[in-house]
Amino acid sequence: MRVRSYALTLAAAVCGALLSCAGSAAAQQGLLQRDPAVCGGADSSWSEAASKNAESLSKAEWSPFGSPERGWETYLPLIQRELGTNCGPGTPEFARLLADFQAQYHLEIDGLFGSGTFQVMKGLWQERRPFILARLRGECPVAPVEYIMTNLPAREDTYDREDRRLRGDALKAYRDMVAAARRDGIMRSDPKLLTIFSGYRQADVDSERCASEGNCDGKRRATCSPHATGFAIDLNLGFAPGSRIDSTSQANRLYQSRTEAYRWLVRNAHRFGFVNYAYEPWHWEWVGNPAALGTTSASAASAAQPAAFTGQ
Ligand SMILES: [Zn+2]
Repeated sequence: MRVRSYALTLAAAVCGALLSCAGSAAAQQGLLQRDPAVCGGADSSWSEAASKNAESLSKAEWSPFGSPERGWETYLPLIQRELGTNCGPGTPEFARLLADFQAQYHLEIDGLFGSGTFQVMKGLWQERRPFILARLRGECPVAPVEYIMTNLPAREDTYDREDRRLRGDALKAYRDMVAAARRDGIMRSDPKLLTIFSGYRQADVDSERCASEGNCDGKRRATCSPHATGFAIDLNLGFAPGSRIDSTSQANRLYQSRTEAYRWLVRNAHRFGFVNYAYEPWHWEWVGNPAALGTTSASAASAAQPAAFTGQ
């Protein structure tokens, strides 16, 4: 998908970065929309769309990020937040709110979830990532200097590596977020939830690893990774049986999207300045200080191809 094709609206930027849009605030507070009388109480004209959405949730065949997928439940938490509701995907209220979204973005207004509607949402989500906007300008943001990186103690690191680092400002925001999650009981089942399994990665080390080990993490190690900014973190959400923690298999991503930890992040991470990359439930970027993004030289920037966006 081409992010460029979507208008960057002020509302979207404010909603994503600062979180003051009314729908998101409603979604965050707990919500009347969980009430069946609300979720099922929309105009009955949305009942048919609701039934179709309930069916496509697990059956739709599509390729939202380039690879074939079945169903759209993986993205449901982000979609619900965008719509400002906790109503289920098979409810008339969900269909009605989807229709409102479609009207706002001049899409066909049918209340049906489909790839066209998703592409617009995906564009909004991508535009909330300063890293992506820099890439659209042909820049490859990297950390300006290494000394601003802070080492993570073992308790914050998923695998107790010694070289895990993050920018100090992003780390502070991460710690505030984890403290809030802990207060909400998110780590009760597993104290290692929301620990970091990847943080800052030096661009040249990433490139070497890609070349020497063939481990290119998609194309990211070979081109330009948000992890080179020091703002990106990969968080432990657990993983599906038989999967790796960062497997992009649909089974693993669906498993993670259903976790309480991920749903908590979707509802709350923005309060601490973090935004998600929708294709990877574990990948979050701190956008609290986008002006601090450094950029590489022109030669490195020229290696950044728009095609890489689909994997970011
Ligand atoms: Zn990541």
